[in-house]
Amino acid sequence: MKKCIYCGVEIPDESIVDFCENCGKKVWGEKMYNTIVMNMNNARNNGDLCHNRTDESEYSSNLNN
Ligand SMILES: [Zn+2]
Repeated sequence: MKKCIYCGVEIPDESIVDFCENCGKKVWGEKMYNTIVMNMNNARNNGDLCHNRTDESEYSSNLNN
């Protein structure tokens, strides 16, 4: 578990941001908070796509064998 940098409440490790939803919305407002989380998720998804590409090339080289 990691902790919210503002109020110290525990947040899940897989949380994309280092603060809880309540604080995020208090600091940035709901709209901005949602935008930040969305952008962070997109960045992480792009990283995941790279991993998938690696898996795919490993998979096709296995097929060639
Ligand atoms: Zn908080």
